[in-house]
Amino acid sequence: TEARPVNFGAGPSALPESVLEEACKGLFNFKGTGIGVAEISHRSKEFTSLVADLEDNIRTQLGVPPTHKIIFTQGGGTGQFSAVVLNLLARHRLLHPDLSDEQRVLDYVITGSWSKKAMEEAKRLGGGSVHIAVDARAKSKDSKSFDNIPAHEDFDFSADPALIYYCENETVDGVQFSDDVQSPASFPFHLLPAGGLWPLVADYSSSFMSRKIPRIADHAVIFAGAQKNIGPAGLTILIVRQDCIVDVDAAAKLGAVPVPITMSYKTNADAGSLYNTPSTLSIYIAGLVLERSKKLGGVEYFESVNGRKAQKVYTALQEGEAKGVYRSKVKEGSGSWMNVVFDVLGDNAESKFLAGAEALGMKALKGHRSVGGIRISLYNAITEEQTDRIVEYLKDFPTQTS
Ligand code: PMP
Repeated sequence: TEARPVNFGAGPSALPESVLEEACKGLFNFKGTGIGVAEISHRSKEFTSLVADLEDNIRTQLGVPPTHKIIFTQGGGTGQFSAVVLNLLARHRLLHPDLSDEQRVLDYVITGSWSKKAMEEAKRLGGGSVHIAVDARAKSKDSKSFDNIPAHEDFDFSADPALIYYCENETVDGVQFSDDVQSPASFPFHLLPAGGLWPLVADYSSSFMSRKIPRIADHAVIFAGAQKNIGPAGLTILIVRQDCIVDVDAAAKLGAVPVPITMSYKTNADAGSLYNTPSTLSIYIAGLVLERSKKLGGVEYFESVNGRKAQKVYTALQEGEAKGVYRSKVKEGSGSWMNVVFDVLGDNAESKFLAGAEALGMKALKGHRSVGGIRISLYNAITEEQTDRIVEYLKDFPTQTS
């Protein structure tokens, strides 16, 4: 096939070419059935074994402990903004039936536009009161941008919250918690309220399977839309600790907000993620992506490759920054491995940068409309060679303009 451009888009994003080729075959004839994967029953043995394999691939590659269930659902990251609130408020209601809504606290860590959106949804739904554990804007260079992961002393958690929410990687703003729990930019696990099982919720939409998840066993819910590192949009992956899979109807009888049936973790878990028709094509392609990952060496492999890719891009940016060509949008130490965001300085320089990249076959580099600038997304399907191409361009671009 003809060489395709490199797609640095933030999501939906590039998929490995070998997977696309394989998927074409599956669309016509899935596992020798003569029926295409988008046409076959989700209850056929061929399809249900695919679901089991996908789960197994996630569990083994990420090291998901037996205390946690893996659930596949739909509705994307945004669907989970609502679902985590409803399910964990139900859990809190069953644990503490007599508290008022004001006493049922939801702690939100706000480091970017996605965690902010999640927090706004919690306010919309009601049934509890939102407490901002930290807002990174207060610590930013201009006191209004999401450009940093705040220092541990700035976090303020409640005593017995219904949930504690954070977004591991902020796709729009390009800030990410460090995966090194000793780092000042790590999530401050050591500050969480003493005792019990933490109701810790993490949005891993744009970093899932890109590297190991620190303290995975201590999370109540980890969720991710598939459309960055895993596969096509339409599939949402959940890792839920079993004490958070509760009888939402029993909680509703005690006054909790009722939970729509497709959002109930218990309904989905009990049905093995097949309560209703799942996003079959996305599950199939995600399965192919993770089979390929397994052969390459799993999350460890991607962790080392992704670390090198990010390092190369940030180094080239710093060199350009010293020359006055680029300006990083985030503080040092807070930069995301997956989404690198910066401005190109000078009149019309940004459009020149984008046009020059396009001419070299590198696409989808425009920053999110809310923040502007450039965004280079370096998800798993972006190879080191493709990263080298953008790094070379970052280095050459200053000389082209001068
Ligand atoms: N969280 C993060 C970190 C995201 O990047 C996105 C989407 N880009 C979302 C949530 C929302 O996901 P969805 O579009 O699947 O609802």
